[in-house]
Order: sequence, then structure tokens, then C-alpha cells
Amino acid sequence: MYDIVIIGAGIAGLTAAIYGCRANKKVLVLEGKVYGGQIINTFEIENWPGGYKISGVDLMKKIYGQATDLGAEVEFDEVLKIVDHGDYKEIVCEDEKYQAKTVILATGTDPRKLSEKQAKDAGKRAISYCATCDGALFKNKPVVVVGSGNTAKHEIKYLENIASKVYHIHHDDPIPEDAVAIFVAIGRIPGTDFVRDFVKLDSEGYVVAGEDCKTSRDGVFVAGDCRTKDTRQLVTAAADGAVAAEMAIKYLNK
Ligand SMILES: Cc1cc2nc3c(=O)[nH]c(=O)nc-3n(C[C@H](O)[C@H](O)[C@H](O)COP(=O)(O)OP(=O)(O)OC[C@H]3O[C@@H](n4cnc5c(N)ncnc54)[C@H](O)[C@@H]3O)c2cc1C
Repeated sequence: MYDIVIIGAGIAGLTAAIYGCRANKKVLVLEGKVYGGQIINTFEIENWPGGYKISGVDLMKKIYGQATDLGAEVEFDEVLKIVDHGDYKEIVCEDEKYQAKTVILATGTDPRKLSEKQAKDAGKRAISYCATCDGALFKNKPVVVVGSGNTAKHEIKYLENIASKVYHIHHDDPIPEDAVAIFVAIGRIPGTDFVRDFVKLDSEGYVVAGEDCKTSRDGVFVAGDCRTKDTRQLVTAAADGAVAAEMAIKYLNK
């Protein structure tokens, strides 16, 4: 039985693990993909205090090392559902089941996918969610950016220095025939589908919680980008991780 099971090894989850371990709690982090979360695709971060121009991978390697050095266990297994047994929760993963007295949801967000029509249009062409990561693969080739927000504008600017032509279209527009790659920048969705009937979500699927990171369910806390909030950044996700862990520790020590 774990004191705290944290779902998601992004910055929110790993920060929560650091705080939980330092309070001498038995902590497990469950991660469905690779550790580090969405920032690992970012080449250079300029707004992480004390880590000016650090890469996402380097930052997350340090935080992961810190959490595991302090005693956090990590399992790479996707969580499918959580069952509340009153005094403990059962966390059901693809491969295993785990038991915990408290749970912290730190599942972040995923990029929103193309509409069905556009996905059909795209056929076998390359689809990317990150111009910085994949733009170089399409040097001097025509590409298209889908989306209308600030992220789309940023992707267009970046690709204009690499591609022979950058088309800009909106969600549901037809995809130009000569574009060889499609860069999707149409927003993000929270990774909360598996807790839809377990904790209260808002209309966009974010876990409803205030600054105390307490969800609608006793003993379940939320941290980072999957929580209802205005600013989704590394520092706010890390701050949530600390608060959620402190709340879980208080709950355990009651
Ligand atoms: C392209 C890009 C650039 C950015 N640049 C900056 C920047 O320069 N500065 C800044 O401050 N912020 C930046 N951000 C925002 C920042 O990355 C996020 O605010 C932060 O990473 C959120 O951390 P998180 O831990 O809440 O979630 P995430 O980083 O999304 O981590 C969530 C983790 O949970 C895992 N997970 C999800 N569901 C499950 C499940 N069911 N079972 C197990 N594991 C699961 C995921 O695989 C993931 O590893 C950027 C974001 C993007 C997309």
C-alpha cells in the first residue's frame, strides 16, 4: 500500500513526488509514456527561474533524478481507472493494479487532433504537433499549419525559415494537395478521460479544484495543467505539485 500514488511524471507529478518523499511518505509515480511530460519537446526554456535557456529534456532529467534519489518509485504503466474503496483507492493500470491512501492526478494535457475530415485529407502525409521538433525534416518542402491561435502563429514563423512554403489553414479547411507535412496547432485537451466519472470536471474536461488542489473526491488531489486554472506553465505546474503533495501529507497525518 502506497501513501501517495501520483499519476503522471511531468513537472507537476515529479515535484509532488519530491515533497511526498521528503515528508517520509511511500510514493509511487505512474507514467504512461516517458517521464518529463510535454516540455521535453522544447529545445530552450527561458522562463524557468535559475535555468535560463535550459532544454526541456535537461530540466526534466534533473527533476526526475531528484525525485528518484529522494526515494520515489516510478512505474511505466498507463492508468485506466481508479476505484474508491473508502480508506484506500485502487489504481488500475494496463499491466498492474496498485493501492494507495491518497492519489494525485498530474496528467497534463495532450495536443488536440485533426478533425475527422482533415485526418482523411491528410492520408499518409506526415503529421506533427511541434514545429521545433520536426520542422527540420521538411527543409525546402511545402508544409501546412492548422490552427488560428498564438501557437499556430509561432509555428508558422518558425517554419517560414525552413520550408519552401507555409500554408496556413483553420480547423476543418481542406488541406492543400502539395503540402508534404501537416503541423497541428489547434489547442490541447486535458488527460482526464479516465477520471470522468470519478472527480468533477469542467465543460472542457479539466479537473475542478482551487489553489488548494483538492478535487471533489476525498483523498484525491490534482496538480498541473489538468487542473482548472488560468496560467498553464512550468512554474505553476511545479507549484501545484508542491501544494497537492502538502495537502495529501496533511490528509495522511490526520
Ligand atoms: C510546445 C510547448 C512549449 C512550452 N514551453 C514552455 C516554456 O517555455 N515555459 C513554460 O513555463 N511552460 C511551457 N510550456 C507549458 C509546460 O510544458 C506545461 O505547463 C507543463 O509541462 C505542465 O506540466 P504537467 O506536469 O502538468 O503536465 P505534462 O507535462 O503534460 O505531464 C503529464 C504526464 O502525465 C502522463 N499521463 C497522462 N495520462 C496518464 C495516464 N492515464 N496514466 C499515466 N500517465 C499519464 C503523460 O504521459 C505526461 O508525461 C510549453 C508547452 C508546450 C506544449
